[in-house]
Amino acid sequence: MSSDATRGADDMIGDGTLAVRAGLPEPVKYEPTLPGPVFAAHFHLPGEPTGPYTYGRDENPTWTHLEHAISTLEAPGESGVETLVFASGMAAISAVLFSQLKAGDVVVVPSDGYQAVPLVHEQLRAYGVEVRSAPTGGDAQLSVLAGAKLLWIETPSNPGLDVCDLRRLADAAHEAGALVAVDNTLATPLGQRPLLLGADFSVASDTKGMSGHGDLLLGHVSCRDAERAAEVRRWRKIVGAIPGPMEAWLAHRSLATLQLRIDRQCGTALAVAEALKGHRHVTGLRYPGLPDDPSHEVAARQMRRFGSVISFELPDRAWAEHFLGALHLVEEATSFGGVRSTAERRGRWGGDAVPEGFVRFSVGAEDPEDLIADVLRALDETAKALG
Ligand SMILES: *Cc1c(COP(=O)(O)O)cnc(C)c1O
Repeated sequence: MSSDATRGADDMIGDGTLAVRAGLPEPVKYEPTLPGPVFAAHFHLPGEPTGPYTYGRDENPTWTHLEHAISTLEAPGESGVETLVFASGMAAISAVLFSQLKAGDVVVVPSDGYQAVPLVHEQLRAYGVEVRSAPTGGDAQLSVLAGAKLLWIETPSNPGLDVCDLRRLADAAHEAGALVAVDNTLATPLGQRPLLLGADFSVASDTKGMSGHGDLLLGHVSCRDAERAAEVRRWRKIVGAIPGPMEAWLAHRSLATLQLRIDRQCGTALAVAEALKGHRHVTGLRYPGLPDDPSHEVAARQMRRFGSVISFELPDRAWAEHFLGALHLVEEATSFGGVRSTAERRGRWGGDAVPEGFVRFSVGAEDPEDLIADVLRALDETAKALG
């Protein structure tokens, strides 16, 4: 990786430096570097009930530190970016959609995005919002933008790993009078910075690579416009989908190793993808970091790291199931972005339009040689067992 690719947008400070310091308060003698989680339903509040801390559904000092950290990662060196943390990625996604859209509005969404989001689309339709969808690949969402209030983008898409041109879509959407939100879960802010590429909202499930240990659920929304941020904040208050202080604190603690983890995972993901390339039982291999991936050219323009997830197809369901069972170092589990490698046959959920033998593979922080050996051995064993 070139030193340029590891620099923050302000060109002064590297991503590792940024990550270990993000969101830390000014040092206070005898206090820890990162103050511990504040468990409080309410705060001492004599007299006029003004903030910053009044009631635990509205604000919490542990969230504040984490929100500052995420704002720094989303737009280094910029002030005026506001971040709100949520109980999960879905809470963050719903907060943007439901705070920005009303009956009669049109929203454009990807047809190949995260599998729980169509449930939200159903709900939006029930409230009188028109939901139009188009695939991520080929910037196909451009063709259905006319009259839209909001364009929702997911790139790279989960689980198909298609990529669209963020800057091009954001410019076209703004010209058409639409706001732009990007689900940046897969990339994390060290992989891609939607706000710097023209988006109005950067939204993510921090359950995945951002917190990276598979031990908590969390989400966030970052945006530059204070009015928009106030609308999302209002939604969080009325729905109450707030993170616990412990989760927020664990996530902040985990951000310190974000650059270490992501660099390791992206490097290994590319190595695993290279090892799978041309394997006689593997087809449809996708990883935006592979130079010959259909997404690579666009991805290389807008991504600084290509993510920890690869996807591929095995001949059929039985093949995929046997392969997953034969792996020793890779847990069969959903989710992705964690330090321990996981993989699953995505078709088992029924929500994604994928072949029965489609595998989504999340590369962890194991030694690349160990992981590659395990994967190739499991493929060989499966080939022997199933012929
Ligand atoms: C997991 C995921 C979500 C949902 O996040 P939760 O934290 O599970 O609610 C949303 N978008 C993408 C792309 C995801 O991978």
